[in-house]
This record gives sequence, C-alpha cells and structure tokens, in this order.
Amino acid sequence: MALISEVAERIYEIKPEGKELENFPLCTVYLIADDNTALVETGCSVQVPDILEALGKLGYDIRKLSYIIPTHVHPDHAGGAGLLARQLPQTKVVAHSRAVKVLADPSTLERLMQGFKQVFGDDARERFGEMLPIAEERFLLVEDGGSIPLGGRDLKVIHTPGHDPNHLCFLDTKSRGLFCGDALGGYFSEAEVTIPSIAPGSDPFLILQSIDKLRELDPAIVFFSHGGTTWEVAKIMRKFADNARQCADIVLKALKVGEDREEIANSLGDVLVKGSTLTKEDYLASSPYFISVTVEGYRQYFKKKMI
Ligand SMILES: [Zn+2]
Repeated sequence: MALISEVAERIYEIKPEGKELENFPLCTVYLIADDNTALVETGCSVQVPDILEALGKLGYDIRKLSYIIPTHVHPDHAGGAGLLARQLPQTKVVAHSRAVKVLADPSTLERLMQGFKQVFGDDARERFGEMLPIAEERFLLVEDGGSIPLGGRDLKVIHTPGHDPNHLCFLDTKSRGLFCGDALGGYFSEAEVTIPSIAPGSDPFLILQSIDKLRELDPAIVFFSHGGTTWEVAKIMRKFADNARQCADIVLKALKVGEDREEIANSLGDVLVKGSTLTKEDYLASSPYFISVTVEGYRQYFKKKMI
C-alpha cells in the first residue's frame, strides 16, 4: 500500500511504503487532479497496482486519466508506463521525441533492463517488473519550452539533460512546484539525505548546467521522485549544485591515483553526509544501490574522457 498526501492544491504525493533509502529503486509518483488529470512518473511495473489503489482511494476515476508523464526512460521512473498505457487506452504518454524511440522499442527496453540488472541484481526484472513497449501513436511529444494544459494550470516543459539525455522536468504554473525527476538527485527530508543524480550514462557537466537552469526558474516547491516534497528550495538546490561539483572533483582525482570503488564511495560519503542526521557508515550502508550507481556513473564518464 502506498502512502498518500496532498502536498499542494490538488497535487497528491503517492510514496512507496517502507524504508525510503532501502526502497531507492522505487519512485514517488504524483497525481495532479485538475480538469485534465496527470500522473507524473509511474514507478516500476510492480508499483502499478499500488498506484491504481491509491487513485481509487482518492476517488479519481483512473479511466479519465489524461496524461502519464514519466520524467525519463529509466525503469524506476517509466517502468510501469507501458502497463498503465495498456490498461488506459484513452491516456496519452508524454515524452521527449527521442525518449519515444526508447519506450516504443522492445530491444531498447531490454537493453535498459540489462543495465538495471547490473546495478540492482540479476533478479531485478522479477523484483521491479517488466517494461512493456508503448505504441508510437500513444505519445504526446513535447520539447523544451512547451506546455501541457491541465485546465486550472499548465505544466511547463524543461529539457534537463545530464542524468539522462532526454530527461524532462515540469513546472506547475499554479503552485510553482517543480517535478524534478532525477535532474537534481534524490532528497529524503527526514534524515536530510541527498543522493547525487549521476548514473551510468550520465554527463556530470550537463547535470550542473541543468541544475543551474532549474535554479533560475525559482520554484516554490520541489517534488522529488526519490524522496518527497520540500519547500526549502533555495537551500536544497544550492546543496545539490555544491555536491555535484565536489563529487565530480573527488572521483576524478581518485581515478587519477587509482583508488578503488570502496575508497571512492568512502570519500563521497564524507561530502554527502554533511548536514544529514545519518553517520557516514549508516549512510553508506542504508542503500548499497545508490552508491554503486553513483560511483559507476562517474567512473564510466571519466574513463571515457581519459581514453
Ligand atoms: Zn534515473
């Protein structure tokens, strides 16, 4: 059962239940219940029954859902989009034109799942569910600067490459709330824990550019896809930008002197634990996944640049 709360006017946060950091591969999704109803993120396929149950509890007729809006193609954000699209034939799936090529193509989806298995283990497919392909005619294509009208509000589209080349963020014009996907990273407010947005295939310099682009929008709220909602926007965004710079410096220097993954993880922990209520040891132990995603993301990027 998911945890549901209204975090802004007619915006509902639907969080996977359980220990947040240990649940890192699962995603918080958001229902925007305006004249046109939109679901931002779908989480993995295994989350779909919980999401449908949550929408039912809120009293929304799921068959009237207008848009499914994954911020990017990673299985923990868009994994359930294909399954939902099959169940909801009237609903459009919103995506960047290049993301459509991924979400519509079974062989590309299989490659994504193989990458997911490398990080989350051989049984990732069983634990998090299959990604089903989506027919191209089901998509509503959007680009940077575009807008999705929902009736009482619009969602402004912001292209934020870096974590993933086709990553999109969405700014709600009514609440000035930002659906940030993985563009900033993850934020678990109870322990004040931040998780960098780097993953295999990410570009740390584009991540920084995108964070600056989001800071210029001056949002009032940030809706995190890993974690929840925060109103301490300026402080949190500054922290993500500072962390992204420091972490990239640390990993680059570590790779130059031949440090191994464990040593790199340890050095990153010193930066990431600053301001958190967790000790570094607790932080590193709390989610073995995210540190391997982070270290591997930087390692792959800098190795490519060094060749
Ligand atoms: Zn991602």
